[in-house]
Amino acid sequence: MNVAAEALSRSQIRMIVKEFRKTVGCDKIAYFPIMQFIEWILANPKYGMDYEIVDPGEMQDTYGTTNTERNVMRIRSDVYEGAVKGRPRDRFTLCHELGHYILHQPQFMSYARGNIPRYCQPEWQANTFAGELMAPYDLVYDMSIEEIMEKCGMSRQAATIQYNEYHR
Ligand SMILES: [Zn+2]
Repeated sequence: MNVAAEALSRSQIRMIVKEFRKTVGCDKIAYFPIMQFIEWILANPKYGMDYEIVDPGEMQDTYGTTNTERNVMRIRSDVYEGAVKGRPRDRFTLCHELGHYILHQPQFMSYARGNIPRYCQPEWQANTFAGELMAPYDLVYDMSIEEIMEKCGMSRQAATIQYNEYHR
């Protein structure tokens, strides 16, 4: 059995991100402050989400996990430190985990047999959320890939995916 999420297209995720950025007052900021968001807002008892920094030996190849039943985000310590320093890949990982937290609360999840269509795959949805969050169309539509990398704190790979989505 696999886990499937409620279907979400890229444009639906884009709308969710847009609302989310507006709600948290970041709709005009290219460089999404993911660390501050996790530390100051999400970890505030009001939201009831905890994060734990976990030793690499315990997490092994996993950069982060988000348990939406217990509302705990576990972040591998080197990923956490990298994100604090602004390392693009680690920033993406935390945006991806935030995507799980926002999109994959238990009421949206179910078990499924066989192949899960892309739009229902939690990993695809979380990656799409992270890309849209870090480089929203409204802020980057006229930027080059290099500008997206620099202004949004993204890796070339992630910036290229967003660039290509906006220049079809
Ligand atoms: Zn994931």
